[in-house]
Amino acid sequence: MRKNIVAGNWKMNKSFGEADELVNGIMTLLEEKELPENTMMIVCPPFPYLEMCTDYSNDSYFMVGAQNVNDNDKGAYTGEVSAEMLKSLEIEYCIVGHSERRAYYGETDAIVARKVDQLLKNEIHPIVCCGEVLEEREAGKQFDVVRRQITDGLFHLTPEQFGEIVIAYEPVWAIGTGKTATPAQAQEIHAFIRGLIADKYGKEVADNTSILYGGSCKPSNAKELFANPDVDGGLIGGASLKAEDFIDIAMAF
Ligand code: PEP
Repeated sequence: MRKNIVAGNWKMNKSFGEADELVNGIMTLLEEKELPENTMMIVCPPFPYLEMCTDYSNDSYFMVGAQNVNDNDKGAYTGEVSAEMLKSLEIEYCIVGHSERRAYYGETDAIVARKVDQLLKNEIHPIVCCGEVLEEREAGKQFDVVRRQITDGLFHLTPEQFGEIVIAYEPVWAIGTGKTATPAQAQEIHAFIRGLIADKYGKEVADNTSILYGGSCKPSNAKELFANPDVDGGLIGGASLKAEDFIDIAMAF
């Protein structure tokens, strides 16, 4: 059975001291509250704070993920971080294909596919983002865009490999804007994504894939979003920077 997942993408925020305070706050709240059944939390801090977060998490409270990875094995790629390095830090998840990386750093579907391969080779679960920009939504092209991103980024995988993937549908017009997809819009496209997976890999693989919603998800709207049958949690940006909000979102299941 697929898991409910709430993953926090801190992006390029927080000093080391602030990051320490945030993760400490998350731990303290998780010690007090019991997460709903079958719910898992993932914290995705900037690279320099990964080890501090894994030291805290000890795997029992939350998992730790990276926000990016390079698509090569190793070598002369100044400033980059490889999947093998993440593995050596015992990182188990990594975001790939976030719209900010697609828009600002030219991350194409082909690069997403290569990053996914690097991560799987190192036993790290890719959290693969997809989603349309506003003009594409207004032109009714959201299904075509998402189909292309999923097909070109992921459908080279074997069914066993696909079983390691988490998908995050993030309409770009909803990221950091305060605009959220309606629960019906989220359900419609999540069901479409699950259908694509079922057509390619069969119903069992599709039913076992967690598909997260991202885009201005917060404590006040998480419950109605997560109530949809094909919404298995959230990839949370802004609201993951406050321990209480992040935990309240996970309690919304
Ligand atoms: C994100 O960037 O993954 C995201 C969902 O951001 P926010 O929650 O701030 O819209």
